Amino acid sequence: MSELICRRILLKLSGEALMGSQSFGIDPDVIRRVAEDVKGLVDSGIQVGLVIGGGNIFRGEGLAKAGIDRVSGDHMGMLATVMNALAMQNSLLKLGVAARTMSAISMEQVCETYVRRRAVEHLENGEVVLFAAGTGNPFFTTDSAASLRAIEIDADLMIKATKVDGIYSADPMKDPKAQFYPRISYDKALAEGLKVMDATAIVLCRDNQMPLRVMNINAPGALLRLVKGEEIGSLVES
Ligand code: UDP
Repeated sequence: MSELICRRILLKLSGEALMGSQSFGIDPDVIRRVAEDVKGLVDSGIQVGLVIGGGNIFRGEGLAKAGIDRVSGDHMGMLATVMNALAMQNSLLKLGVAARTMSAISMEQVCETYVRRRAVEHLENGEVVLFAAGTGNPFFTTDSAASLRAIEIDADLMIKATKVDGIYSADPMKDPKAQFYPRISYDKALAEGLKVMDATAIVLCRDNQMPLRVMNINAPGALLRLVKGEEIGSLVES
């Protein structure tokens, strides 16, 4: 166990990461593969908190453009994150991994309501905790929810899993000259407006000294190699 560089992590996955090559919803193969990666972490003794976005189903901003008022749209977005969390919970349970969804919006017939102390107890018991419904408030994102939960549960590291290998000076899918940053400060990421996470989420990490690793979710086994000390993706720190 001594080779592990962290004991407790908070992993943030965007809803889009679960879509695979589809344009909406959840690709069962993708969710199973990510669940297998999470199982690898749990089997190594890592305590895992998960935040999954909802952008593969609904985003408040997009719904507002379609004429739904923003607060209702954000509520719909938060409910979408619960659907994703339940799908991931199901995949984890099928692999024999104890997993529990805790929602920031109470829905007691569906899952537990988030209570920080209970969440930490579940983590200490080796259960994966899926933090659903974002922060429970409109006008926030699940990136901010992930920063908040990472800080609340005293995670050693927050990991944002994306579709690219880490942080670049520009979108590497569009600009072949984009420069890769193996390490970057919170302030530089903010000042350059890099698409790491939204500013609220970065500031929360910065002000609470929560190290953030940005990495590609499509590389099977990379999460395990990361927690065993391999330099993977980009690190954001002071
Ligand atoms: N959302 C919200 N408050 C939160 C977190 C999320 O209102 O604390 C809503 C918001 O409408 C957002 C949607 O839920 O667009 C889905 O979350 P997000 O866009 O962060 O998902 P991702 O891009 O990670 O898939």
